[in-house]
Amino acid sequence: KGDPRLEAISRAIRVVPHFPKPGIMFQDITTLLLDHKAFKDTVEIFVDRYRDMDISVVAGVEARGFMFGPSIALAIGAKFVPLRKPRKLPGEVISEEYVLEYGVDCLQMHVGAVQPGERAIVIDDLVATGGTLSAAIKLLERAGAEVVECGCVIGLPETKGQCRLNGKPLYILVGPR
Ligand code: AMP
Repeated sequence: KGDPRLEAISRAIRVVPHFPKPGIMFQDITTLLLDHKAFKDTVEIFVDRYRDMDISVVAGVEARGFMFGPSIALAIGAKFVPLRKPRKLPGEVISEEYVLEYGVDCLQMHVGAVQPGERAIVIDDLVATGGTLSAAIKLLERAGAEVVECGCVIGLPETKGQCRLNGKPLYILVGPR
């Protein structure tokens, strides 16, 4: 709030109505990635927030968490851990299912990717109901990591006013366009 960079970041996000189905206002961050200044500022805001918090794990949620997480991890001196959809990771995995509007989805993490006691953040492009981030938090906690915060570029109104998720802080840069 009051940060002029946030205004430009918000403007760089494209809204695509009725994608992938009627009624959904899809927040498209690919246009943010095309805007070098806005993309850089987005990563820098997260880096400034997390660099002195003793974070050793940045976990990114497939697929759009992969577009911000690794840059943040490199800049703060942390490892990057991909949280993937089923049957993508080749090694031994742990899984967390979560309920969607229709049906269930699942995130997986490689066993051994994080060590007990490591301090972690979870990065995704957008939080709506928080179901995806809750599954991510559970995976990391089952591996013994301490989830310090979840960070998202966009928070939908579903999440507004709610700044915690599974008891964990939630950090959001902008609202929906
Ligand atoms: P949720 O689990 O309900 O918090 O949904 C968040 C996940 O769904 C994130 O991985 C988002 O990328 C995706 N998502 C949900 N709603 C939208 C939307 N309106 N625009 C873009 N992505 C969305």
